[in-house]
Amino acid sequence: MFVKAMFISVVSLAMAPVVALAQHGEEKGKPAEFKMPTTYKAGVEEIEHRLDVISKLMESKQLAKVHVEADVIQKVAKEIGQLALKEGSSVPKEAVKDIDQAGKDLAGKFDAIDKSADAGDAAGTKKIYDEMVKIAATLAKYTPKTYQCPMKCEREKTYDKLGKCPKCGMDLKGVKSHVDHEAEHEGH
Ligand SMILES: [Zn+2]
Repeated sequence: MFVKAMFISVVSLAMAPVVALAQHGEEKGKPAEFKMPTTYKAGVEEIEHRLDVISKLMESKQLAKVHVEADVIQKVAKEIGQLALKEGSSVPKEAVKDIDQAGKDLAGKFDAIDKSADAGDAAGTKKIYDEMVKIAATLAKYTPKTYQCPMKCEREKTYDKLGKCPKCGMDLKGVKSHVDHEAEHEGH
């Protein structure tokens, strides 16, 4: 009987941190679905996507949920230098140092944005978010570019080289990444 009781208490001790994490997640909203990207491009896209979510959370004043998104950004940012080094990343070797530093800078923003967001400081959160967008733009500079017909004859089909649309013959145009798009709006 005693042995059994001991066993149960050991198990519940081992479970305690898991339960605490789950509760923490509920407090902050549903934990983000997240899988570590395996390519540089996917890593940058994941970061851009999470920044986009944070921007929407700021708009809808749901700062408590920023934590989960910022956590994903931190995790991907820490790996981004390694992803850039991977064969087939099409990142120029001389850019890896720049990327590695940007990844560290971006991951380093986690504590600050988490603290501001948890405190409900909208202006402070926005300020750190803007810094993060700038750093992410450095990362996006090195992602392989994609091109598309400006008339979207083939809908969302993209090409990895400049050329002409096979349907209408117009010159393909670079597809803007989200970060470029955000930066354009900053002047307002
Ligand atoms: Zn076309």
